[in-house]
Amino acid sequence: MKVLTYHNIDYPPENAKLKSLYVNPNKFESQIKLLKKLGFQTVLSDEINKSKKNIILTFDDGYRDFVRNAYPILKKYNAKAIIFVVVGLTGKYNLWDWEKLNVKKPLMDWEEIKFLVSEGFEIGSHTITHPYLTKIPEKTAKAEIEDSKKILEDKLGVEIKTFCYPYGDYNERIKDLVADAGYKMAFTTQEGSYEESKDIYQIKRITVFGHYLLPQFLWKFLV
Ligand SMILES: [Zn+2]
Repeated sequence: MKVLTYHNIDYPPENAKLKSLYVNPNKFESQIKLLKKLGFQTVLSDEINKSKKNIILTFDDGYRDFVRNAYPILKKYNAKAIIFVVVGLTGKYNLWDWEKLNVKKPLMDWEEIKFLVSEGFEIGSHTITHPYLTKIPEKTAKAEIEDSKKILEDKLGVEIKTFCYPYGDYNERIKDLVADAGYKMAFTTQEGSYEESKDIYQIKRITVFGHYLLPQFLWKFLV
């Protein structure tokens, strides 16, 4: 089984750096349509059965363009997804890398996140402030991991089962903190299949880049 990673579903602004993290909505629709045509079933974290025909769609950072551009397409094709939100920045923008990327990307607010929960989407934690977890004091890392789960659960009234490491940055200790906080699984930025992952707290994924044409996309999740 493959876990796909998306960031923005939108057209990149002229001056934005790292444009490859933007998948335009038309391309995104072709990808979802293809998945469905091939008989793939999009599953959430508690539905994983490692079937070759299962796939998990994940969206990092919780950008507002998910609601505007990705949601209608996923709804149309009856597809589910996990969205990893930066809990302390809801309704704000990508404070952690806007200077580097030269663009302020709006993040979903609580109303939008609640709406997605009511529509059957899964929300996971991407910490409170999107730090490099191995580069901050352990106490702070622990709070980023634990408190983000608690805040999400209080606000949304559902159990938060999944975690995603900002920048894919983690080590054994961080992994333990995530497990101790009660998350059921955690996702990395390492490339590979679900089965190739060393354990459930370092799940490998496949990033879908904006320049992929449909054959490349197909190759990435089939091979
Ligand atoms: Zn991120």
